[in-house]
Amino acid sequence: MEDKKKSGDSLWNSVVQQVKMLLPTEIERNRMDRYFPLMHSPRLEENCYVIEVGEQIQVEMFAKLYSQLILEALQSGGEKVDEVRFILSKDLATQQQQPAKYRPALATPQRGMPSTMPMHENYTFENFVKGPSNSFAHAAATAVAKGPGRTSYNPLFIYGGTGLGKTHLMEAIGHYVLDRHPEMSVCYITSETFLNEYVNALQNDAMHAFRERYRKVDLLLLDDVQFIAGKQQIQEEFFNTFNSLLGLRKQVVMTSDVAPKDLKGCEERLTGRFQQGMVVEIESPSYETRLAILKSKALAGQHLIPDDILKFIAENIRSHVRAIEGALNRVVTFVDLNHDIPLTLDIAQHLLKDSIEEEKTIKDLTVDEIMRTVALAYGVKMEDILSKERTQTLVTPRQVAMFLSCKLTTRSLQEIGRSFGKTHATVYHGAQTIQKRIDVESELQKTVENITSQLGRNPSELTK
Ligand code: ADP
Ligand code: MG
Repeated sequence: MEDKKKSGDSLWNSVVQQVKMLLPTEIERNRMDRYFPLMHSPRLEENCYVIEVGEQIQVEMFAKLYSQLILEALQSGGEKVDEVRFILSKDLATQQQQPAKYRPALATPQRGMPSTMPMHENYTFENFVKGPSNSFAHAAATAVAKGPGRTSYNPLFIYGGTGLGKTHLMEAIGHYVLDRHPEMSVCYITSETFLNEYVNALQNDAMHAFRERYRKVDLLLLDDVQFIAGKQQIQEEFFNTFNSLLGLRKQVVMTSDVAPKDLKGCEERLTGRFQQGMVVEIESPSYETRLAILKSKALAGQHLIPDDILKFIAENIRSHVRAIEGALNRVVTFVDLNHDIPLTLDIAQHLLKDSIEEEKTIKDLTVDEIMRTVALAYGVKMEDILSKERTQTLVTPRQVAMFLSCKLTTRSLQEIGRSFGKTHATVYHGAQTIQKRIDVESELQKTVENITSQLGRNPSELTK
């Protein structure tokens, strides 16, 4: 008697079960738990079992590790298959590589509560690495977590570029509150979903019910509020709902990719309200923070990656934390796959070639950025740096900016000269002067290194 053809899902489930049984060690079974969630849309096409993955390295790695096992599992289940093929899917390539675990924001879903989205299990304070780029935001978030609705940080508005840890920090507040006060209701929701609900309520004449639902929330975590910018017609009502929440001393935390004042198409009344509590920025992490994040992630995943490789990543991947995690994952995958090949700098360089190229295009420092950071560090104005005045208090920062522009950008002396309104010879002379001085003045050396870190670069680049 012939078995009925199993549906795609149940076939895949039985493959997973069987492969697991075929794996002899705990380590291999654990590895499988990490890798199988990266496989998508498994299906039979003629006699070939096709599985989609998001990276070329996974195509190679999974073929080597699992093709034979999956084939055996299928054949032993009576399927007519003679090949298992992994293919690269463009859609998957853009998605996150690591399978994420989630926790519901509401301990027990209750009737009449607003819908809330699941939070990442690992987005906790313990897993958040502190550094100068995020210390304000971290401090404010901790204060709010310890006393939701009871600090003056209401609303707490966290802003900064993408991938810098806003969602992580916001969800950390949620976890902290849920762990200590399971009775409190926490609502984590993206502004997009919030607005959809809101518009639904408006259209269905259910505003009253909508407001009532949110009144029951003790902690509202509203992610990516830049989404409401430009949606003017609903801002009036949004403003009222928001006000009534704050009036009830409900804690509201918001994130956005820009500061409140830069939310385009947002009424001043609303942005003004956003700023009445506490506004904190998360900036790009310095070299040291990037390295600390890498070490913590490697440790958390129990990956033994040599220090020089972690430094290499921290030095070359600077744009944001998500990109840093992506680079680490790539290296970890390689190590998992090649137990017998030692991971060298050359290999890391090869593995990360594309990401490093991409970084260059997004994060080449501008001379302007350097001047601004130097001016800030020395407590002088940008105009002073650009002026012709030759007092020592201005000459040093000006020359430091020239020196750093030569060291940290790919621009020519001519181009740098143009930005300073000086000749290329002046820039050359200025940079040389600082080079000579830092060799003998340790104080100056320290200052220059600090500024380099603030610019998100590794001070070791100065000696190259
Ligand atoms: P954003 O919301 O700002 O776009 P996310 O909060 O999603 O960024 O962070 C992107 C990734 O980087 C997440 O996996 C997060 O855990 C990680 N991350 C960001 N900042 C830190 C940090 N300071 N310490 C540890 N991990 C971080
Ligand atoms: Mg986010």
